[in-house]
Amino acid sequence: GLPMNTFESSVSWKEFKLLNDGLLPVIVQDYRTGEVLMMAYMNEQAFTDTLKTGKMNYYSRSRKSQWLKGETSGHFQYVKSLHLDCDNDTLLAKVAQVGAACHTGSRSCFYQTLAKKEYDETNPLMVFEKVYDVIMDRKLHPKEGSYTNYLFDKGIDKILKKVGEEATEIIIAAKNPDPEEIIYEISDFLYHAMVLMAEKGVSWEDITKELANR
Ligand code: AMP
Ligand code: ZN
Ligand code: ZN
Ligand code: ZN
Repeated sequence: GLPMNTFESSVSWKEFKLLNDGLLPVIVQDYRTGEVLMMAYMNEQAFTDTLKTGKMNYYSRSRKSQWLKGETSGHFQYVKSLHLDCDNDTLLAKVAQVGAACHTGSRSCFYQTLAKKEYDETNPLMVFEKVYDVIMDRKLHPKEGSYTNYLFDKGIDKILKKVGEEATEIIIAAKNPDPEEIIYEISDFLYHAMVLMAEKGVSWEDITKELANR
């Protein structure tokens, strides 16, 4: 058998339809939420090393050299699956992203919104992940006047007290036939539960794995 984190590709490099400079565009997605994290290029060596190590390797056109994503930042991308498109000219990688995919520190490179119509976030997990990311970011980079930082500063007992209070508020809100209040209180509860998760180092991946296995 292959060592852990090593992959075997059913299609070889010579079967890819490459760009004129011999590179292959790669779209990178969060394997759980489907969020598009970044877009980059691979040369043959980067592709080979990605299969061999299970970590995303690319070719930088500006630096004219191969790079292992996370080499300097620690923000490695662990390959979950690789997919080739219909005409063999673009790779899709589903990865477990450590920290941020973008060198700016943003989780995704696509944070510049150019045009938008109002829509609901359709992937609930993505909303949870986003809120959790902000909470974690506050923990790492405390912000003046932040309620989240107030909770972290007060410590675990304060956080637990709030979780208990918010759970009680859900029960009280449920007595009201109008669902408006329960929406508000469950949101309150989930936020405080996420602060507790952050304090305890528990991620949404830990929770969803547990739920899915029940
Ligand atoms: P890293 O691979 O995260 O350790 O970052 C090392 C270098 O790779 C950065 O200084 C950037 O030049 C480049 N880099 C990292 N992430 C990206 C990205 N998402 N898009 C383009 N360049 C990147
Ligand atoms: Zn294509
Ligand atoms: Zn970026
Ligand atoms: Zn409340």
